[in-house]
Amino acid sequence: MKITIASGKGGTGKTTLSTNLTSYLASQNRKVVLADLDVEEPNSAIFLKGKLKTEQVFNKMVPKWDSTDCTLCGKCAEVCNFNAIIDLPNEIRVYPALCHSCYACSELCPTNSLPMTPERIGEICEYDSDNFSLVEGRLDLGQEMAVPLIAGTIDFVDEKFDGYIKLLDAPPGTSCPVIEASRYSDFVFLITESTPFGLNDLRLAVETMRVLKQNFGVIINRYGIGDNGVEEYCQVENIPIVTKVHNDKEVAKLYSKGELIYPKIEHFKNSLDEIVEFIGGIK
Ligand code: SF4
Ligand code: SF4
Repeated sequence: MKITIASGKGGTGKTTLSTNLTSYLASQNRKVVLADLDVEEPNSAIFLKGKLKTEQVFNKMVPKWDSTDCTLCGKCAEVCNFNAIIDLPNEIRVYPALCHSCYACSELCPTNSLPMTPERIGEICEYDSDNFSLVEGRLDLGQEMAVPLIAGTIDFVDEKFDGYIKLLDAPPGTSCPVIEASRYSDFVFLITESTPFGLNDLRLAVETMRVLKQNFGVIINRYGIGDNGVEEYCQVENIPIVTKVHNDKEVAKLYSKGELIYPKIEHFKNSLDEIVEFIGGIK
């Protein structure tokens, strides 16, 4: 069972729900692992305090120009869809930050002048506690390409945590990183707020999920602020609302102190119960 927790925008409470749900499932003796895929600024470890178990460098493969046999034919620059290669009059220049590691230039080069070589872009850290595991992808400062590290972190979780409930905390938005974090999951929870801004971003997230043909449901966070727009939209679009988490200043206070919410706030725990029950019904 693999479930992605996503949202159309940041600040909707995705990490709060992911970390609390992980801890809550673990407290019920379920085997559960959370993958923090917000690789530009992972922060789940602030709330799920585990011991660092493994830390491994993550590389992406990029072509490296070898001038020895290059004929400067320019084919490599022609086939690169990402403008990561430029053919200059006397050299071939590669821009690793733009490279999507598709291998096209390397494989089509007639003189094997672009061998693919590993380049570090981040690391994958695994934390362990008595009852849960947390895996965190962390992009190095200055790196822009989140997707390969997100894919690598999901592969790491798939290989090491067979038989676990896998929760994937996606980066916010609706672009490539979210798609990578959602497309192989059994279900996606879209977290939103009951405000016009929340509804706008939810619409975009729903469109993305529909393009992916992904099963999804909505969790309304900070319920009670704003208006009924999100509920009305979900009703019209026939989208299940998994739970409504009530707006509560105490939740924000606990969050700001890096504490888990459900052990101290009953209505939050009730919402987690509704989510767990919903997960039980996912086929
Ligand atoms: S395709 Fe190969 S031979 Fe042609 S310019 Fe690129 S590196 Fe040189
Ligand atoms: S591997 Fe693909 S994306 Fe990277 S430089 Fe070559 S053609 Fe472009």
